[in-house]
Amino acid sequence: MFPFLNIHTHHPQLLPEVESILSLSVGHDDLNLIQGHQVALGIHPWFIDEPQLAQHMLTLTEKARLPQVKMIGECGLDHVKGAEMEVQLRVFERQLELAKALQKPVILHVVKAYDELIALRKKIEPNVPMVIHGYNKSEQLGHQLMAQGFSLSFGKAILNGNSGAAAILRASDQFFLETDDSDLHIEDIYRAAANLKNTTVDELKALIFGNWKSANLI
Ligand SMILES: [Zn+2]
Repeated sequence: MFPFLNIHTHHPQLLPEVESILSLSVGHDDLNLIQGHQVALGIHPWFIDEPQLAQHMLTLTEKARLPQVKMIGECGLDHVKGAEMEVQLRVFERQLELAKALQKPVILHVVKAYDELIALRKKIEPNVPMVIHGYNKSEQLGHQLMAQGFSLSFGKAILNGNSGAAAILRASDQFFLETDDSDLHIEDIYRAAANLKNTTVDELKALIFGNWKSANLI
């Protein structure tokens, strides 16, 4: 029996039927949680603390090697919230370099900054899976991003069957599911996804297990 796989959550919880990746931002979250959890470790664009940045990057670089750190992130770019874009770009670039050096996949937070994301990936060429989490934009943009080699992860957006996220999910088998900062159980997201795809939760578990395998997460 395959577990439920939750690629992105901010809630530390251990459930026997779920494997999840807990997202921790250096300088913002309790890094003791690395012990006993599978985590994504990074510096979130909302939580860049410039006076502490050098220390935070050092901590990230040191801890990112740990086997419990499955992904680098969430990191990325946000034009609506967070530090100045110039600072965000610098911090994001260093995290892509780190992911490249360690060959670990990246989990991305991107708000209105897809052009910058694509340009930066071209510049760094990390050659690791890059997963845009919480995708909730149009169907067309989603397909373009996938065609460029990005993976998408869907959360509560798919509870609305008319969303772009729901449309992409119906048309593709290449995606991940997540609960992010919501209180939903990942099982609720799987149920919604199974309905949209006209399949069973068990078949969906097998499918997403395969996607985790290809991304080197399992
Ligand atoms: Zn998040």
